[in-house]
Amino acid sequence: MTVPDHDRVEVRDGAVPAPCCFCRRLTLGLVGQDFYLAPYFLDTDRSFADGRYGQCHLKCLQESGLGRRWASGVSDYFCRRWPDWIGIDGGASRVHVSPPTRGIILWSAQGWFAELPFNVLHDAAADTPSGAGTPRPSRRTLSVSSIIGFEGGPYETIFAALTGGHHSRIELPTLLAQLNCADRVLTPHVLRDGWVERVVPESRKIPLPAEYRARHAVEFDVELINACRAAIRRTVGWRRRRR
Ligand SMILES: [Zn+2]
Repeated sequence: MTVPDHDRVEVRDGAVPAPCCFCRRLTLGLVGQDFYLAPYFLDTDRSFADGRYGQCHLKCLQESGLGRRWASGVSDYFCRRWPDWIGIDGGASRVHVSPPTRGIILWSAQGWFAELPFNVLHDAAADTPSGAGTPRPSRRTLSVSSIIGFEGGPYETIFAALTGGHHSRIELPTLLAQLNCADRVLTPHVLRDGWVERVVPESRKIPLPAEYRARHAVEFDVELINACRAAIRRTVGWRRRRR
């Protein structure tokens, strides 16, 4: 799968890797594949969660049979915190817009979540074919780049062990296989061309720690992308970037 360069975006998340609260294997913090189940997402009835909080593979969450219950709790939380949301597909999905973080949270009744910055939807829309007679794809792949760890953290140990300390990049399929997590992703095909790399940020003032970045694709229905754009436009407004 080839992902256009212009779809690349930045997402910051430093809470991983951590054991999945269901299978105890590592979650890598991949957008659309993993999620953080926080106790405060649930209002009063937390009994169904059976103490399972923290990082999880969304696949494990779905297989546990708790996905819909968690989705309901998370949705209620997001509705309270970010009351500007729109329902899509008969309410099966919701888009919550967070102006302070310039990001959105996608929620699905099936128990699927993802957090994305505005610009990933912005760029995706700009590239949608619109010529006469051009068939419109029903799904699109977007590329996300997330910071999943820092120098001195647990990712460094994992990375160094897998690469022998000689390489700055490891392919995601290899990483997932080495960590025995390959069967814990929802959509392996979108990770096929992804990777994790060690990057030392450039700074003119102070030395910054090395970062571990994951870069991979996320697949969306075009209808969902358009609904996200409409929600953002209605909430904060943004103009199409000139190219
Ligand atoms: Zn798991």
